[in-house]
Amino acid sequence: MSLIKPKLLTFMCAKCFNEKMDKLAWFVSKNSIWNESFLCRLCFHKAFKQLTNNEKGEWAFYDNRRISKPVRQ
Ligand SMILES: [Zn+2]
Repeated sequence: MSLIKPKLLTFMCAKCFNEKMDKLAWFVSKNSIWNESFLCRLCFHKAFKQLTNNEKGEWAFYDNRRISKPVRQ
């Protein structure tokens, strides 16, 4: 039994250096300074908001959200 937990990766937000976030997302956008970096939820959303609509469209989950938006009747 080992008490030492293996450290696989340093899960740290590239923007705010938050290490306590358990979930980091891989952000990719050619026009963002945060291209190809791990961002926490908050920074990811901030970086995402700065993208143009065209760039946002490249993100599958964004498209899905728009499509699944309930249609007003
Ligand atoms: Zn962050």
